[in-house]
Amino acid sequence: MPRLRLETRCPYCKATLRRGEWIELDIRLAGDDRRGRLGLSPYFGDYRIRPPFDIPEQSVATFFCPHCGADLTIDGECALCAAPLFLLELESGGVIDVCCRRGCPGHALGGIQDPAELRLLMKYMQEADE
Ligand SMILES: [Zn+2]
Ligand SMILES: [Zn+2]
Repeated sequence: MPRLRLETRCPYCKATLRRGEWIELDIRLAGDDRRGRLGLSPYFGDYRIRPPFDIPEQSVATFFCPHCGADLTIDGECALCAAPLFLLELESGGVIDVCCRRGCPGHALGGIQDPAELRLLMKYMQEADE
């Protein structure tokens, strides 16, 4: 399977979020309020994360832009687990919704529920592959 890398940016300040091999976001864990900088794999379908501290499976975090500090949470909930979602913009145009719950398959950059978004992403990936 080809490694398709998503170029993401903050929907507010438009700063590029990828640093090296990770999409970096600030998080605040629900419950105990710990904060840190989390890495998400930028590769489509790759659910690896680089947690700043031990994050229990199923815990929910709030995600912030590390550049402007904006809360990236959006209205709506994950179709799989009903946790909040956060949103990233794609450099190619379009957006991607991501589940805020650790361990949910909607986590990382796979949580696309809108077929129109998915088609847009597929188109972008084909272009990126050329
Ligand atoms: Zn920002
Ligand atoms: Zn979920």
